[in-house]
Amino acid sequence: MADVEYRHVDKIFEEGTKALEKFSLAVEDGEMMVLVGPSGCGKSTALRLLAGLEAVSNGELLIGGKLVNECSPQHRDIAMVFQNYALYPHMTVRRNLEFPLRMMKLSKSEIARRVEDAAHLLTLTDLLEKRPRQLSGGQRQRVAMGRAMVRQPQVFLMDEPLSNLDAKLRTQIRAEIIRLQKSSGVTTIYVTHDQVEAMTLGDRIAVLNAGKLQQVGPPQELYEHPANTFVAVFLGNPGMNIFDATLNRDTGMLQLAAGTWQIPFEPLLVRKPSLTEYMEGPMLAGLRPEMFSTSTSGAEMTVESVESLGHECLVYFTASCVVPGGDQKTQVARLPGPAFYGTGNSIQLGFDPERLHFFTADGDAIA
Ligand code: ATP
Repeated sequence: MADVEYRHVDKIFEEGTKALEKFSLAVEDGEMMVLVGPSGCGKSTALRLLAGLEAVSNGELLIGGKLVNECSPQHRDIAMVFQNYALYPHMTVRRNLEFPLRMMKLSKSEIARRVEDAAHLLTLTDLLEKRPRQLSGGQRQRVAMGRAMVRQPQVFLMDEPLSNLDAKLRTQIRAEIIRLQKSSGVTTIYVTHDQVEAMTLGDRIAVLNAGKLQQVGPPQELYEHPANTFVAVFLGNPGMNIFDATLNRDTGMLQLAAGTWQIPFEPLLVRKPSLTEYMEGPMLAGLRPEMFSTSTSGAEMTVESVESLGHECLVYFTASCVVPGGDQKTQVARLPGPAFYGTGNSIQLGFDPERLHFFTADGDAIA
């Protein structure tokens, strides 16, 4: 097992696409690191570089403290599990698991021991004599993981391994991956575009956007202290609402969403003195959907649509709000209980101002 480090890594493809830019990330020995971000942000490229399937344009890659830029894929001691896992259809599960070990020319007894251990961990023991076509999607995925595991690599790379499975199976296998990763202790880098998967799987999460690392840290820390509006909106289901915000010196009020909410700012400055630097200036404020509550002192909104989830509902509305980029005009509140509201109803929404996050006009969190 080993730690992994990307140092100032750039990847520029031949026709000029910059897939990664000054990407630096240190993954600790035994850690489960999840790379998450929207489609095309460079997640798979980061894995492929580490596996040696692509060459870095600039920067250094280290595995166990050793520079591997020039090292061939076979000598990096890495196992990869992809979205489209390919099992050998004519071989039994046992033969599929044995295959990489035969290639490594291990002894028969060592091969048998490793296969048995992996089958036990992945609850595949009863399926060892079956062929892939006799297995469910989830069982096949477990065999694919087993085939990577038996090699006992220094590092596991997983690229959206669950995206072909239905939602229930995904949740189940996610729990198995966590258990496996913890019991094997193998350093793992897991790529997904699904923020729920990232939040539940990662010891730490690295959020990427357009080839650049946005923030890295434990899931809860990123959720509670996003470094910028991208991370704030990307994490959470739905993500954080972003409003324009102004501290009005004359009235002593924080005006949110073009004045939809007016809140005395003095108590906020006590908690966050740095806000004084932004007096009268443009600023952004963020609020998680679950922080809204219905309140007679709240601002009145017109309900645009409602999604009822049984135990709670998502109420969409538009506060007249000026946000750069303009892609966050519809806001959402997550309210407990079944939906008592319908499209076109008015609803009074308030919140505890302590729950607000503040960002510069460029979207960086205000410390
Ligand atoms: P997804 O979640 O859709 O798989 P991703 O975050 O994994 O996306 P990458 O596959 O790493 O993204 O791609 C990052 C960027 O590099 C994209 O703009 C992509 O089009 C480009 N890219 C990836 N591979 C190549 C390649 N072999 N040649 C040229 N451009 C590439």
